[in-house]
Amino acid sequence: DPVRKPLRPSELGNILASISTVSAPLRQEDLKKGLQESQFRVAYQPKVSLQDGRVVGAEALARWTHPDRGPISPADFIALAEDGPLIADLTYFVAGTAFEDCRSWSNTGFHLSVAVNVSAKSLTDRSFSDKLAELVRDSSLQTDQITLEITETSAMSDASAMLAMLTQLRIRGFNLSMDDFGTGYSSLMQLHRLPFSEVKIDRTFIHGMDTDQEARVISRAMIGLGHNLGMRVVAEGIETKGVMQMLQEEGCDIGQGYYLGKPMWHHEFLDWLGDSAVAVPAE
Ligand code: C2E
Ligand code: MG
Ligand code: MG
Ligand code: MG
Repeated sequence: DPVRKPLRPSELGNILASISTVSAPLRQEDLKKGLQESQFRVAYQPKVSLQDGRVVGAEALARWTHPDRGPISPADFIALAEDGPLIADLTYFVAGTAFEDCRSWSNTGFHLSVAVNVSAKSLTDRSFSDKLAELVRDSSLQTDQITLEITETSAMSDASAMLAMLTQLRIRGFNLSMDDFGTGYSSLMQLHRLPFSEVKIDRTFIHGMDTDQEARVISRAMIGLGHNLGMRVVAEGIETKGVMQMLQEEGCDIGQGYYLGKPMWHHEFLDWLGDSAVAVPAE
């Protein structure tokens, strides 16, 4: 048995300090430091055609591993970032990384699109579209290779500024997706009035499709609605073969979820693409 030596006061101090760091709530300063010190990375989750099983692109998802606290959930740090000015830095970091990585998939022979999540709040920043266009130029991508998934987490403060920005982005050629459709503030009115080209049905509706008749009815209606408005329809959160097959039957265009592919680091995603170029269990 290892002999338990009593802790020296300095050791005890260190332990107490690290415990209090870990249990204290996250602050803006933690986020700022994390961004400065490269604690953030980007994971990619495949988007797959449900009609022919081809990988059409990937969604970039921010990941934060804090040196003391370990991995922090996006639900926590996105909310924190949206609370202050750092959401802009985070978005530009993720977008810049994702565009460069997309370019390198392309150089490897995989011509895919890439999707980046954008908080509705960022759209009220008047320079957003210029900054994004600059990142696109730096990576020598075309804007039509890029989808911006817009998430609404709080009531819009300035709807007209948001409409103006979305219109500018659309004119520049970006594809716009309404993320988490059916939940929160992503309303029918916005789907209809704003220049979206894609609607992404929230996973709460997709999840139970194979067991819950109502979930299936609602998903079917959303797919029809999206198509009737001339949009591409994406389903997120596909976890089983049964759900994937139902979505194929309902004519949903694109699927995403653990059954099709989990979020992966860039090099893992490249390996995965190599193994499964036309990847999906589309039998
Ligand atoms: P989202 O954009 O709706 O992304 C989908 C979330 O569902 C991701 O969680 C993904 O890992 C998870 N997911 C994917 N497939 C499945 C599945 O089959 N089953 C289940 N149960 N979950 C699945 P994640 O990475 O934790 O991100 C959560 C949310 O945080 C995202 O939801 C997005 O709204 C936000 N987020 C992530 N990265 C960024 C970012 O760079 N910027 C902004 N503004 N928001 C981000
Ligand atoms: Mg998304
Ligand atoms: Mg989503
Ligand atoms: Mg979601």
